[in-house]
This record gives sequence, C-alpha cells and structure tokens, in this order.
Amino acid sequence: MLMSMTPKTALVWFRRDLRLDDHPALLAALDSCEHIVPVYIDDRAAQGDWTPGEASDWWLHHSLALLQDALEAKGSPLVIREGEALEVLRKLIEESGASEVHWNRLYEPWTRERDTTVKQALEADGLTVCSHNGSLLTEPWTVMTKTGTPYKVFTPYWRAAKPMAASAGPEDAPVALTPPKTPLHSQTLQSLGLLPDIRWDKGIEATWQPGERAAAEQAQKFAIDAASNYDEARNLPGIDGVSRLSPHLHFGELSIRRLWQIITSHTPESDGREVYLSELGWREFSHYALFHFPDTTDQPMNPKFHHFEWREDEAQLEAWQKGQTGIPIVDAGMRQLWQTGWMHNRVRMIVASFLVKNIRTHWLHGARWFWDTLVDADLPANTLGWQWSAGCGVDAAPYFRIFNPVSQGERFDPEGDYVRKWVPEVAGLPKKYVHAPWKLPAKDAERLGFELDRDYAAPIADLKTSRESALSAFKALKEVS
Ligand code: FAD
Repeated sequence: MLMSMTPKTALVWFRRDLRLDDHPALLAALDSCEHIVPVYIDDRAAQGDWTPGEASDWWLHHSLALLQDALEAKGSPLVIREGEALEVLRKLIEESGASEVHWNRLYEPWTRERDTTVKQALEADGLTVCSHNGSLLTEPWTVMTKTGTPYKVFTPYWRAAKPMAASAGPEDAPVALTPPKTPLHSQTLQSLGLLPDIRWDKGIEATWQPGERAAAEQAQKFAIDAASNYDEARNLPGIDGVSRLSPHLHFGELSIRRLWQIITSHTPESDGREVYLSELGWREFSHYALFHFPDTTDQPMNPKFHHFEWREDEAQLEAWQKGQTGIPIVDAGMRQLWQTGWMHNRVRMIVASFLVKNIRTHWLHGARWFWDTLVDADLPANTLGWQWSAGCGVDAAPYFRIFNPVSQGERFDPEGDYVRKWVPEVAGLPKKYVHAPWKLPAKDAERLGFELDRDYAAPIADLKTSRESALSAFKALKEVS
C-alpha cells in the first residue's frame, strides 16, 4: 500500500553565504524537504558596536540583488524581512508551515550568541534546526594542540589544519528549487536602505562587481594568470598581483572550498600557489583566533597592552584618515581605501604601523576606520590585522618592528607608480624623492615648482624621533608584570 506523505517545507536562512554554489545549508534542506523558502533577515540592531559600515552595506545591497535574481531563476524567490531574527523566523514558520530551518555557521561572538538562542528556541518550538559549515575549510574547534589548547602561532596551526583543509570538496548549486505553495511576502531590497543617500560610492562602483558570478570569474582568472607568481607579486601594490577576492569571500559569494579547488586545479605547483594557499590559511586562522579569544575585537590579546601609553591626537588621526599625513605611501593607501573601499595588504600593514607606532594612536581607532570604509570589512581578519600591527595579538609583529614607510615605499613601490596614482601632488617628483618629498633639494623643488606644505603636506611626524619614542614606550611595557 502506498503511504501518502505531506511534502515538507524548509527555511534556508542566508546570511554571509550569498551564493548558490557549494551551499551546505541549501543542499541539506533539499535533501529532506520539497519546498524551500530562502530568507534574508536584516537584524542589524543585534550587531551592536560592530554594525557594518556604509561601504559594506553598499556591497551587501548589490550582492543581495544578484542573489534575488539567481533564486528567482531557480524557482523560489528570496524573502527579505527586517527585524529581530527569532521573531522573523517564527513568523515565517507560521506563514509557510516550515518544519525545518537550515543555515551556514558564522563565528563572530555576536552571531554565535544570536544563533544559539535562535536554535534553542526553535527546537523548543518543535522544529528541526541544523547549522552547517559553509565558510571555513576547518572549523575552529577541530584544530587543537596536543594538550587541547588553541594554537596561538600561525605556522604550527596551519601545519595541523592544512591536511584537513585539502580534503573538503565543494558541491554544485542545485538545478531547481520548489517554492512554498503560497508565496510569502517579501520586503523590497530598497526598503533596507543599504545604499547611501549622497552618492559617495562612485569610486567603489567603478572598481567592483559584487556577486557570485563575478567572484568565480575573478578566482579563475587569478588562478590561471597570476597565482603562480603570487609569492613575489603580492608585495607590490602598484601591480595587479593579488586576487582581490576578500569582499567576495567575506560575503560568501565564493565558497572557500570552491576557491581551494580552483587554485589547486588551475595553478601549477609553485611557490606562488603555496603562499596563496597559506594566505587562505591566515583567513582560517583569523576566524580561529576570534572564536577562541572572542574579546579580542576590543581588548588586546596581550594584557600588558592595557598599560600602553597611547596618545590621543585628533588632528593626527584625522590627517591619517584623510590621507594627509605627508608620508606618500601612507596617504596613497588611505586614499585608495576611501575611494575604492579596499587597500593592498602591504599598504594596510604600513598605514597601520604608522598609526599605532609613529603616531601612537590606539589600534582600535584604526580598526574602526577600516571597519567603516572597507568593502571587505571582516571582524576576524580586521581584528587579527590590527592586533598584529600593534604587537598585542596572536602571533603579532614584535614591538620593535616599526616599518619605515619610506624604505617600505622604496622597496615595494620602487618606481613610485602606486603613490603617483593616489597622491597626484607628488606625481611630478623624481623617483628618488617620490617617497620622501621633504628631502627634495631646494634647487630641484624650485625647478619643479614644488613647495612642501603648499603643494603637499609636510610630514605630521618625524619618522626617526617618533620611532624612538615608540620604542621606549614599548620597552616600558616589558617592565610591567
Ligand atoms: P590576497 O592576497 O589575494 O589573499 C587571498 C585571501 O586570503 C584574501 O582575500 C583574504 O580572504 C585572505 N587573507 C589574506 N591575508 C590575510 C590576513 N592577513 N588575514 C586574514 N585573511 C587574509 N582582510 C579582510 O578580508 N578584511 C579585513 O577587514 C581586513 N583588515 C585588515 C587590517 C589590517 C590592519 C591588516 C594588516 C590586514 C587586514 N586584512 C583584512 C587582511 C588582508 O589585508 C586582506 O585580506 C587582503 O588585502 C585582501 O586582498 P586580496 O583579496 O587581494 O588578498
């Protein structure tokens, strides 16, 4: 005798996994349910101090628009709602008759807290609730030292994590989705108000193409054309030597397992390929560190840094934010950030070192500015990057490593192409002085019609004396018990 089974409905809660390819939550929902309701909930009130900035919101808007199109084409449109996540999910369950809820896990402290509450409450309501790994190669609790503690240094961490990373394979997007019997009401994307009222976003718009398709194309192109030279090219901000995949990875438009597969199958074995895979390891490590040390978003990992003598100089901080420090490579980076929502990694390290060491401004000021202006603003990576630069985080730069921005510029932007592009005020200076315009001899300045402090800012800090005073402040910390 044939048993008649009522078709089941699942909600798939999209968060920062804005794609259909290699989407474990979606595939698991399809395994057990006939009808699929894809949902996006704008619950920014839950995000507290680290609510995404406007550059991130710009990306999110466009990414959601493309996800809407993709889901529509598969047959089950995206339902967008605004509000507290648990409340919205309960309402959607009532409206759709769903018996299951699936999502891919996130690892920031606030997301873990929210998701645990949601899971417990919905399970108590009688729902089947499943979370999945759709963001990482290895989850933070699976890689531990022999004594069961978390790793604090990248190299041994990656030695343990990499063999596990390589074993996870991506899965293709589903062919079609069946919508719920009665369509659910969706707010419009515009009603979330993610785009700016004043159009400051033109530089970002001209630089980026959000979305799953653009991410996959960029990954393929990088794997074929550039990844095998990455070990050398990644340090040169004036050339196209890095993958620029960070915003795509942050919003989950590209699955990390798919990227790993693309690189290992399209890039020949080489130092470049190995170094690139280890950068993906740094992404894993940043999630790992934030998972195990959740306070580090705001607190130094090394408690001695509570005693560090930070300086509070509003004018210097503002000069740094606006790219008006008078140090060309620092200003170039800060302007690239402001205009395009992204900055090259080598330059991120240089501008961060200048802020926390030369002008001794608290790393949180830098982290917050990056948070508001980056299209790839990512709490794990940003926290790790800033604590590393300040010398107070996991596997951090030693306190005595203070980048000299002039020699960094001369070494990594030897022709001055990068600074000439972003700081046109120094574009006409000879190569020898483009990274240190204050050293331009008077006769050359006169011949070129260049005047320091008129055509371009004089440096806001003397690199030698600020370095020495940072070193003595850091040395004083060593005495703290
Ligand atoms: P590629 O060089 O092509 O690297 C590929 C991918 O590896 C990146 O997309 C990224 O996902 C990952 N990756 C590379 N380096 C790191 C790293 N050090 N830590 C974590 N992941 C890494 N990255 C962010 O994604 N968001 C941030 O908010 C962020 N803030 C930073 C702040 C500071 C002070 C510093 C020094 C670094 C920060 N980074 C951040 C890391 C790094 O600068 C960017 O990931 C990288 O520049 C992005 O460009 P790309 O995609 O071309 O990188």
